[in-house]
Amino acid sequence: MSVIGTELPTVGSFLSGEHGLWFLTLVFLFAGRSSLKSGRFSHESSLERREGREADRIEDRSHIHYQANELLLRGLDILMSEFPIPVWIAEWPSGRIRSMNRAWEQLVHRPLEPRSTLFNCTDWYGFYHPDVGIYPAEWFPPLRAVKAGAPVVVEDLRALTPEGDRRLLVGWATPLRGYAGEIIGVLTAFFDVTDAQKKEEAYEARIQELTREVEKLRGQLRTVERKMAQAHELSIIGQMTAILAHEIRNPLGAIANAAELLLQLRPDADENERELLQLISSEARRLSGLTRQVLTYARMPDPEPVLARVHDVIEQALDLLQKDPQFDPRIRIRREFSPAVTLCSLDPDLIKEVLWNLLLNAVQAMPEAGELVIATSLGELPDRPSQRCVRIAIRDSGVGIAPGDMEKLFDPFFTTKPFGTGLGLASARRIIEAHGGTITVQSSPGKGTTVTIFLPL
Ligand code: ADP
Ligand code: MG
Repeated sequence: MSVIGTELPTVGSFLSGEHGLWFLTLVFLFAGRSSLKSGRFSHESSLERREGREADRIEDRSHIHYQANELLLRGLDILMSEFPIPVWIAEWPSGRIRSMNRAWEQLVHRPLEPRSTLFNCTDWYGFYHPDVGIYPAEWFPPLRAVKAGAPVVVEDLRALTPEGDRRLLVGWATPLRGYAGEIIGVLTAFFDVTDAQKKEEAYEARIQELTREVEKLRGQLRTVERKMAQAHELSIIGQMTAILAHEIRNPLGAIANAAELLLQLRPDADENERELLQLISSEARRLSGLTRQVLTYARMPDPEPVLARVHDVIEQALDLLQKDPQFDPRIRIRREFSPAVTLCSLDPDLIKEVLWNLLLNAVQAMPEAGELVIATSLGELPDRPSQRCVRIAIRDSGVGIAPGDMEKLFDPFFTTKPFGTGLGLASARRIIEAHGGTITVQSSPGKGTTVTIFLPL
């Protein structure tokens, strides 16, 4: 403890009471006044003696003043030594810092340096300003208080401890006046607001974070609203498309049939005529296939499930595939059917439609032929592990899918083929999801692709 005044320990313990300061002030005031009074009335015999005595009295009086002021400062030193708020007491006009209490040392870990004064103290005690470095003494609260002759408050004081901790302080300083009203010292108290400031900064950061989150959510909401508006428009377009496709499909079938009939009725037709009739037939069938896909996609599938043999449905789809002109007979077809897979509740026509789309994609991915594997097994739904299901995986050794395309595969009209519709996978997903199932795609570019459908049991 750096308080000066060792001869007053008992007074110190007494003064730690709440009225100690007043007591001390009264003591020295009364002591001073009574000495002065006794000085004034005791010697009045002759002029010379009076003059001599007058000089002595002035000297006495200033000595008494000095003692009284010193007593006040010492009293304050002792009173403040255990005060819970960091406090300095300095003398004026010398500026010497005479005491710093224990709370100060505990806060900033810098004890009283005997040579420190109010004019050089900021450097000694680690005060700094972020813009100018060492805190300028003239801005420091005690010198401002002396200059103002009144208490001052200075915020934003920063002190660095010897360990490198930064403390943010508010300084309050007040001039101390002596017996004759002159400034004899300055008392400075420091309030540590570091933690409060940190909390405020943390709140501020949290508020900013929340504001960003709200902004993000607002953005998401706008996207959802836009998508809903688009979905509404699309559903109208979808209905119109379904009507149109339905109207076109039947005449297209009739045109293809008529062209094929003509071919049979005109065995004597020349090569050009036969080629044209075949072209009419094949194009009409292709368009009919396209309208069927558009119809499947545009109409929300409404499965009519029956208990069907899974492997029979697959065989029927494979049969259709092998008869299709697009099928390359060099492609090896391998069945990896699990005997555990038997019956499943499904709409055979819709599932055949899905299998047809997937098998055709696999064939189209193998222009140089390759191997097509159809594997069945029992398992669980990937997104609902408690739900048992049948898995049908269609694996090809084709070109594979570029990683950037993976997330677009199920978008309607996404195609990488010159005459593709981009509706195969989109329809397949709609149909499988209408069955309560899931569809997944795994692919290695250059090696092949596996598309798996999961149908709940
Ligand atoms: P389409 O076959 O008319 O292009 P799909 O919806 O059936 O439309 O397929 C969309 C796209 O997905 C295809 O154009 C292709 O790029 C990719 N794709 C689908 N299946 C496979 C597969 N087995 N191998 C490689 N790419 C595939
Ligand atoms: Mg396709």
